[in-house]
Amino acid sequence: MRLAFTVTQKQRLIELDAEEAITGLVFNSEEERDSFFKNINRELVHKNRERLETLRHQRMRPAVREMEQLLVKTLNEAGFIEITTPTTMSGGMLARMGITGEHPLYQQVYWLDKNTCLRPMLAPNLYAMLGRLEKLWPDPVRIFEVGQCFRKESKGSRHLSEFTMLNLVEMGFEGDPRQRLKELTCLVMDTTGLLYSLEAENSEVYGDTVDVIVQGMEIASGATGPHSLDSAWNITKSWAGLGFGIERLVMAREGFKNIRRVGRSLMYLDGARLNI
Ligand code: ATP
Ligand code: MG
Repeated sequence: MRLAFTVTQKQRLIELDAEEAITGLVFNSEEERDSFFKNINRELVHKNRERLETLRHQRMRPAVREMEQLLVKTLNEAGFIEITTPTTMSGGMLARMGITGEHPLYQQVYWLDKNTCLRPMLAPNLYAMLGRLEKLWPDPVRIFEVGQCFRKESKGSRHLSEFTMLNLVEMGFEGDPRQRLKELTCLVMDTTGLLYSLEAENSEVYGDTVDVIVQGMEIASGATGPHSLDSAWNITKSWAGLGFGIERLVMAREGFKNIRRVGRSLMYLDGARLNI
């Protein structure tokens, strides 16, 4: 007889972030299985409790917020100014990004009313702010925002419906925008300490983009201008910008298999399950 874990047991193991090698195990008898489950459950509960203890006694901020803090410091030191823009957005702002009707991202938007949504990205607000600050500040203008974004997602372990984006952009510099994009990627990724690679991609919003990949997972997408979208925002200068998912960065750093552990939650705190 080859017995797998029961549905409830498997569910519990996934909640506690057990390795796939464990959740897929098969046993010769119920007794063997249940006794193994009991032990592994105890071990994982212990791990989760330990994580909560280090939060309470040492770190005091969830890893997602620590990561954000670290990156904000790096960006400030590199001359990037933090901006804070509204979490709600008008449909017109999305339309100026080319996100309308049949666009895949449009299908993922949470609408609050006919013309107001929860922002699925920060880029439209950054574009708008660049256009204004460009008239007030000397070149290059360097800004970034860290904030919640919302998308209706059907995909599993790497997607949250509410996540934290860090979007930075530099505009009005001398030289090759692609090279600058690489340098900015390096600035952020060196701070995280994660090994990464770059992959040319074709994005639904930006056309040609560069994705930052860590452990086979997209962590960020970057783009450069002059770009076909620029004219809608009265932007004429060259720019380089990148949007990072903070939860994905933490997921990769901690080796978590499911992003839900680090998302905003009432059931997880800083990667630890609370019904333990
Ligand atoms: P994916 O292809 O993985 O769905 P994307 O290309 O749609 O991501 P972008 O619009 O490029 O995502 O957003 C920039 C970054 O924001 C992504 O690289 C990722 O790190 C993060 N991100 C995007 N959507 C989500 C989500 N639903 N949950 C968590 N992080 C996300
Ligand atoms: Mg992308």
